[in-house]
Amino acid sequence: MNPIKQLAGTITRVRELSPSAREYTITPSEPFPFTAGAFVNTFFEHNGKTIRRAFSISSSDSDTNTFTLSIRLSLQGELTPLLWERDFTGETIKLMGPLGLNTADKMQAKKIYLFGFGVGAGVVKSLADHMMRRSELVSLTLVTGNRTIEEILHKDYFDIIATDPRVTVKYVVSDTNQTIYPDGYIQNHIRDYDFNNADIYICGQGVACNALQTVIANHQPRNCQFFIEDFH
Ligand SMILES: Cc1cc2nc3c(=O)[nH]c(=O)nc-3n(C[C@H](O)[C@H](O)[C@H](O)COP(=O)(O)OP(=O)(O)OC[C@H]3O[C@@H](n4cnc5c(N)ncnc54)[C@H](O)[C@@H]3O)c2cc1C
Repeated sequence: MNPIKQLAGTITRVRELSPSAREYTITPSEPFPFTAGAFVNTFFEHNGKTIRRAFSISSSDSDTNTFTLSIRLSLQGELTPLLWERDFTGETIKLMGPLGLNTADKMQAKKIYLFGFGVGAGVVKSLADHMMRRSELVSLTLVTGNRTIEEILHKDYFDIIATDPRVTVKYVVSDTNQTIYPDGYIQNHIRDYDFNNADIYICGQGVACNALQTVIANHQPRNCQFFIEDFH
């Protein structure tokens, strides 16, 4: 298990992922080993106040020198509108981590399902990278749920890994006006999946995670474990 550290991190790059999401690259002040699925607490100073928020790491755990956070703008929120208002590139913040339940280490099945709602696609990306390095992996099924086509996150990365014969990728888009992708919610598009003997990771807003878990559990899969990351 990687030790939890308090350290500084400099925001070295900010990149647009979609109209409402950005990727922040952080260069920590010292090597930062973590296991995919981990999150960090970030501490932003604003008007004499410290704002603490948790963000999951969305980059590969094979790189201990930099990591990325995929962050969605929460319009009425306290921190994320600040992040969108000004360019934080070059600024240094306090960090605490890696935090979490060592999810990747606990997911040892040869059949893996990764489901990411919205910005949950970020941590799914990190977990996919981790799982694909396992020679014993037989199948990895990755599904992201997105509000619109423009909001599909990390599609460039997922399209590349989908060329691996072990990997299947699906994008579900809730916007019913589009006809390119399966529409509605992820749970409407899982009929063909065999969840027996699988480890299932679900990440995003709690209501969405619970709804999907309930539908999968109704299939009564045998020998299947759930791992839920609720972005409350
Ligand atoms: C383990 C974990 C991992 C996470 N990972 C990610 C990640 O990878 N990416 C990501 O984008 N987010 C992630 N989150 C969520 C993130 O920590 C923040 O909650 C999110 O970015 C919003 O922060 P904010 O300060 O902008 O909004 P907040 O100020 O926290 O507000 C969040 C929402 O609550 C509403 N709200 C605030 N106060 C009230 C109130 N009094 N009454 C009613 N509603 C209210 C706001 O309108 C807003 O929509 C994660 C959370 C957890 C717990």
